[in-house]
Amino acid sequence: MARGGSGEEVSPVSAEADVIIVGAGPGGATTAFHLAGHGLDVLLLEKSEFPREKVCGDGLTPRAVKQLVAMGIDTDGPGWTKNKGLRVIGGGIRLELDWPDLLSFPNFGLTRTRLDFDELLAKRATKAGARLQTSTTVTEPLVDERSGRVVGVRGFRGADKEPVEYRAKLVVAADGVSGRFPLAMGLGKRDDRPIGVAVRRYYHSPARHDDAYLESWLELRSREGGDKFLPGYGWIFGMGDGRVNVGLGVLNSSVGFGKLNYRTMLVDWLGSTPAEWGMNDEANADGPILGAALPMGFNRVPHYTRGVLLVGDSGGMVNPFNGEGIAYAMESGVLAAEVAVQALARPEGPERERALHFYPAELKLRYGGYYRLGNWFVKLIGHPEVLRFFTRHGMPHPTLMRFVLKLLANLTDQRGGDAMDRVINTVTRIVPAV
Ligand SMILES: Cc1cc2nc3c(=O)[nH]c(=O)nc-3n(C[C@H](O)[C@H](O)[C@H](O)COP(=O)(O)OP(=O)(O)OC[C@H]3O[C@@H](n4cnc5c(N)ncnc54)[C@H](O)[C@@H]3O)c2cc1C
Repeated sequence: MARGGSGEEVSPVSAEADVIIVGAGPGGATTAFHLAGHGLDVLLLEKSEFPREKVCGDGLTPRAVKQLVAMGIDTDGPGWTKNKGLRVIGGGIRLELDWPDLLSFPNFGLTRTRLDFDELLAKRATKAGARLQTSTTVTEPLVDERSGRVVGVRGFRGADKEPVEYRAKLVVAADGVSGRFPLAMGLGKRDDRPIGVAVRRYYHSPARHDDAYLESWLELRSREGGDKFLPGYGWIFGMGDGRVNVGLGVLNSSVGFGKLNYRTMLVDWLGSTPAEWGMNDEANADGPILGAALPMGFNRVPHYTRGVLLVGDSGGMVNPFNGEGIAYAMESGVLAAEVAVQALARPEGPERERALHFYPAELKLRYGGYYRLGNWFVKLIGHPEVLRFFTRHGMPHPTLMRFVLKLLANLTDQRGGDAMDRVINTVTRIVPAV
C-alpha cells in the first residue's frame, strides 16, 4: 500500500509486462524499439512529457547515424542537418577531417535538437509495439524479498502523483546520468572513472548555422586575449535552422573541476569569437546556458545484476575520448534487447540468469579495452601542458590527425580495415578491459 496525497492508504495502479524500461531517452527508446520488434511486451516509463528539452550538444557521429538507420528513421527528412566530418581548431591551426569511409559505418554525421530527437525515437518504439507511459516517475525497484531479485518498479504518475507498481520479468535502467534506479539498488558511480561537466547554449547565427562540419576546439581562449587559456574543450555545431549549439566541457581530471563557473567560462570564450558569428552578443542567445554531467568509461558497474540491465548514461557509457553518449546509449540498448530476448526464451532460473550475464561480458568485450585507453587519455589531457604539447605537435600533421579522429570517434572497421584501423583495433584488444 502507498500513501495518497491526502494521507489515506491507496492501492497503486498496477500492470505487468515482459520488460519494463525506466527512462525514454535514446537508450531506453532504442531498447524498447528492438524488444518490441522481437514481440515482447514492453512498458517504457518516462518521467517527463514530450517534447522536452535535454541538455546536449545535439551532435551525432556516424556511429549514432548507423543506429538511427537501424530503427528505420529517415535522416533525409526535415529537422536533420548533415555533416561530413569534424573541424578541429587548436595550436593556431584549423583542420577539416572528413568522417572515414568504412564498411561498418556511414560516412556522414547529423545534428538534431534533442527537443524532438528523443520524442522521435520514442515514437519509433511505440510504432514497433512498445507501451510508452509519460509523466511516470520511477522511485524504487520492487524487490522479491526471498530471492533479492528486482521484479518490477514503484513510482507515481500524473500531476496528482498517483502511486503505481508495475511488474516485469526484467527491468532496464535507462534513466540517464542521475541513475536514481541503480542508486536505489545500491549501485553508486565509481569515483576512479572519468566524468565530465558540460554546458551549452543556442545562439542565432546565420553565419555558422549550416556548417558542413562539426567544430571542436581543443583550446579555449579567454576574451581577455593574450595567452590566457580556459580549461576544457569547446564545440560549435550548426543546427541548420538559423541556430548553433555552442558549449564547453571540463573533465574531472582538470585542475579546478567542480569549482569552476562553467557559465562564465562559456561567455568568456565566446567573447573571443568573431562578432559576425553572433555568439558574443546576448541578444542572439536562444534560451539560457544549461549544463549537465557526462558519465564516462563505464563509471557505473555491474551492468547487469538481480534482474536489472543498465543502458547508456545509467551505466556510465559516454565515450571518454570525445564525450559522445547517444551512440553508446543506443548501441547498449540494442545489445540489452538482444540479450533479453534470448534470456526470456529460456526457463526462469539459472539458465536464464546465465544468458543475462552475457550482457556485461559482451559490453566489456566490445568497449572494455577502448574505454580503458579513454580513461587514461582523460587523465593525461587533464594536464593542460600535455594537451597543449599534443595540439602543437599533432595538429600540423593531417595524417596523424586522421588517425586521431578514428581513435577518438571510435570509427574503424573490425575486419578489412586500413592500417590505422588495424593499429587501433589491436591496441584496444590487448589493453586490459575496464
Ligand atoms: C552539455 C552536454 C552535451 C552533450 N553533447 C553530446 C553530443 O553532442 N553528442 C552525444 O552523442 N552525446 C552528447 N552528450 C551526452 C548525451 O546527452 C547522453 O550520453 C545521452 O543523452 C544518454 O542517453 P540515455 O538514454 O542514456 O540518457 P538520457 O538521455 O539522460 O535519458 C534518460 C531519460 O530517463 C528519464 N528518467 C530519468 N529518471 C527517471 C525516473 N526516475 N523515472 C522515469 N524516467 C526517468 C529522463 O527524463 C530521460 O528522458 C552531451 C551531454 C551533455 C551534458
